[in-house]
Amino acid sequence: MPTGIKTSKGNVAYLTEEGELIVPVTAPKRFQYARGGWSIWQILAELDAPLKAWERYAYAENLAPANHSKFCKGTASQGDGFVFCVDCGRYQEK
Ligand SMILES: [Zn+2]
Repeated sequence: MPTGIKTSKGNVAYLTEEGELIVPVTAPKRFQYARGGWSIWQILAELDAPLKAWERYAYAENLAPANHSKFCKGTASQGDGFVFCVDCGRYQEK
């Protein structure tokens, strides 16, 4: 399991066993995805989030390589059994 993003103040963002992203209100602003920080997908990538977290938060599951380049300039990254893109928030199980 990912342990979360650590700073000098300790863990500030982490995933539960169910793949739920927890960001305490005391976390630095970049982790506050709902308040102008990183995108939730950047945080998932930073946490090396498992597939079940992407299933919960992704925009869609349709990251077929041939289609992806038509609507997104981002690059797909490799997850554990899936690929994902932090730019468009899509993923594809392999
Ligand atoms: Zn993309």
